[in-house]
Amino acid sequence: MDVPRAGALLLAAALLVTGCAPEPGGAPPPSPEPAGTTSAPAAPPAPAPSAPAPPSAPAPPSGPATTAPGSAPTADPDPGPGAGPDVGPDPDVDLDDPASPGVVVNKQRPLDPEDWAPAALVDVEGELLRPEAASAVRGMLAAARADGVPIRIVSGYRSHAEQSATYAGWVAQKGREAADTVSARPGHSEHQTGLAVDVGDGSGCDLRVCFDATPTAAWVAEHGPAHGFVVRYPWGEHGTTGYWYEPWHLRYLGPERAQELVDSGAATLEEFSGLPPAPDYGPAAAG
Ligand SMILES: [Zn+2]
Repeated sequence: MDVPRAGALLLAAALLVTGCAPEPGGAPPPSPEPAGTTSAPAAPPAPAPSAPAPPSAPAPPSGPATTAPGSAPTADPDPGPGAGPDVGPDPDVDLDDPASPGVVVNKQRPLDPEDWAPAALVDVEGELLRPEAASAVRGMLAAARADGVPIRIVSGYRSHAEQSATYAGWVAQKGREAADTVSARPGHSEHQTGLAVDVGDGSGCDLRVCFDATPTAAWVAEHGPAHGFVVRYPWGEHGTTGYWYEPWHLRYLGPERAQELVDSGAATLEEFSGLPPAPDYGPAAAG
């Protein structure tokens, strides 16, 4: 790990802007202050392994510089003409219908309707997922364990009602602005699609930045696409995705489309789908 990245990880740990924030009244929420006011990295709070993890939290309104809209990914994929899938809208993929496995949900693209719920959900080791994602995650868990990698599901589907209660609890405790730094607004969480899953290894780094350094994180980043899952909020892409790095938050796209995303060199699902960056909620909601 290079020095700037290590420093940024410490900064992220200090901010504790994890996408899957604890319930209000659980672990302390991250400070909403800009990073510059933090003189030293704070020790992360003790993990709350029994607490269910809400879906991804938004990035703070101020802090480390965000990726400029339209900027290129850090890696140069250089696919060459005709060398792989194009980045951009695919007429065969419905990005808007929550029932579509290709749906893109972010701070600019709430589920429509916002209280949408999957027609079917399947239990996988105590968490619910859409059937196609459940089947795929079972295969992924088995493959990881066969490789000797410890892995467990930390969080799966969360309903609109559950997310509403979680978000309202944060608003009541900290106010809307601070709530937005730790909890997704209802209707804006990818977990509500039933296609997102948070994984961990049970080592104490679940839903924490230190998960990045675990063999489990490396395994899912490498092998997840073969099972249809991609790391939805990659390192350094919060200016596009609206979320800080979450190596544990995986999104089911299906093996074919997940591999196409990887092969395309696109850094994010937004870029791959030809959608604009979604660093924050819309202007009307920003004030
Ligand atoms: Zn998540």
